[in-house]
Amino acid sequence: MHFNQVIGQQSVKASLTTLVNAERIPHAMLFLGPSGCGKLALAIALAQYILCENKQDQESCGTCKSCSKVSKLVHPDLHFTYPIIGSKVTSPQFLNQWRSALLDNPYLDINHWLQFIGAENKQGNINKDECLRIIKQMSLKSFETDYKILIIWLPEYLQKEGNRLLKLIEEPPENTIFILVAEEQERILNTILSRCQIVKFNALSDEEVVEGVMTKTGISQEQAAAAANLANGDLNEALTLSSNAENDNAVLFLDWMRKCYKGNGVELVPWAEKFASLGRERQKHFFQYGLHFMREFMMYKLTGSQQVRLRKPELDTVMNLSKVVAFEKIEPITQLFNDSFYFIERNANPKVLGLDASIQMNQIFKN
Ligand SMILES: [Zn+2]
Repeated sequence: MHFNQVIGQQSVKASLTTLVNAERIPHAMLFLGPSGCGKLALAIALAQYILCENKQDQESCGTCKSCSKVSKLVHPDLHFTYPIIGSKVTSPQFLNQWRSALLDNPYLDINHWLQFIGAENKQGNINKDECLRIIKQMSLKSFETDYKILIIWLPEYLQKEGNRLLKLIEEPPENTIFILVAEEQERILNTILSRCQIVKFNALSDEEVVEGVMTKTGISQEQAAAAANLANGDLNEALTLSSNAENDNAVLFLDWMRKCYKGNGVELVPWAEKFASLGRERQKHFFQYGLHFMREFMMYKLTGSQQVRLRKPELDTVMNLSKVVAFEKIEPITQLFNDSFYFIERNANPKVLGLDASIQMNQIFKN
């Protein structure tokens, strides 16, 4: 992973390369930022830069033996710890899955990872055995380079076991670098936080998310923009949304709004059947999209500005709807979408829910 394969985050890249080049890289860093902003990708790019045998001013060479091994995540001096399931297991037992998930998408989030290893409803954690393993591993000499690097993905999952690592992080063996990659500062032990230099990441801009989605999926700019609009700077979320892009939520939603407005049962029942056939994830995205649409609708109502985050057909609908839907109706509609999302997550019958939501929408429109 090169720095230039990591979307955005220019100022973080610049300050990290400056530190490496000045040989002032901290021995323990905590990369902190929201999901899907590229912290983990950048941690790997930094590891590649540090271990590179022929580094350029701001970038690893990409061709030396070290770079080649890091890019396949098989470098013997680059170690990983991540949440897994079970109490008597350690990260190496999941290493093949980890490599393949990470090579496929270095922006992955905890839910995708836990699904990938078949956790179902089990919680992930970083357990005592893993902490003991880390302490032992880090006490060994490096194999091929001067440095040993450990990336701990989501130290939030260490919980109290994190105390076992305090001494190691405070007084690490020579040439050892810890990169902790975290999202929720308040879930990390203060004793760990105080021993790390915190490197803050911002969410990506919509433009950066669009760039990331287009690079990774090859879908059109319009589809990528539709996904980015809903993803709030989370590239992973935008990738998930755009994997559903062939079934465009906007088209489905606008059609639904028209049907609800007319309130013809002959149209609404087949619609509810179609909705039920979408599958739970897309049903959730449908209402997520609805919430986005209502936010933009409200902006339009308040300001009359056409500078909203919507495409042409959506904007046309907003303008038409604005003539017949009063401002006071935004709140009950938003509430209905929130409730529907909540019930789908909790396994509501999708056909009943789809029909019920349609009828409620019609009542809101007509009252
Ligand atoms: Zn290299």
